[in-house]
Amino acid sequence: MLEPAISLVLTKLKEIRDSREQRPRVSRDTLLRFVESGLQESQAAPGKSELLELLNSRVSSCTKCPHLARSRTQTVFGVGNPDAELMFIGEAPGADEDARGEPFVGRAGQLLTRIIETMGLTRGDVYIANILKCRPDMPQGVSGNRPPTPQEMETCISYLLEQVKIIQPRVIVALGATAVEGLLGVRRTMRELRGRWHSFNEIPLMITYHPSYLLRNPMLSEKRKVWEDMLAVLEHLEKPITEKQRKYFLSAND
Ligand code: SF4
Repeated sequence: MLEPAISLVLTKLKEIRDSREQRPRVSRDTLLRFVESGLQESQAAPGKSELLELLNSRVSSCTKCPHLARSRTQTVFGVGNPDAELMFIGEAPGADEDARGEPFVGRAGQLLTRIIETMGLTRGDVYIANILKCRPDMPQGVSGNRPPTPQEMETCISYLLEQVKIIQPRVIVALGATAVEGLLGVRRTMRELRGRWHSFNEIPLMITYHPSYLLRNPMLSEKRKVWEDMLAVLEHLEKPITEKQRKYFLSAND
């Protein structure tokens, strides 16, 4: 570790010597301070953004699922605040996400954004990712999206684990039963799973419906269920909750 700093000092001194008639006069203390500052710079640990960027570059060239690597437009890594306290995890990118390279940007994504904003946050405050980083392929000529298989999720989840380890959110929200299957390896109905705390890698995990479920079932009662899960998340994060927020989706006026 000392070598690059010393060689930097020697190079600089040589440059000064070559450019002057008089020899440079540098005290021993000055030299030591120069070496130490060089050392501190070279030893500075990479931050969360850099670590995520390095991971993203590995993901973007991944071919562990050859069929998905062939069919994808691009990988869809994740988006948001590297220091986020709250992380949302879905199952896989769809066609819109595959085209844009960003998770949750289609109709379901727009609804997720509204949910986040109703919580008093922005997409930039949280981190959003999927278990699968490539869009599950569809038969040629068939539009729409399909859920990832358990095997595809098992192959890709190591990247998500690294993301979680870097970000270290205080709470994770899993969106939908397929994401839960990928995270916890259990296949249950949402009725059995939601409304209580679980744990993923020792991080509190709240399970709620995928926004696409709310698009298919836009009843007030279903919106309220998701909202109650989000209220529990806000309480866990010790965020202020207004009376208005507490009452959302309890009446037909919402
Ligand atoms: S889904 Fe994940 S593991 Fe499979 S090719 Fe894409 S990035 Fe790699």
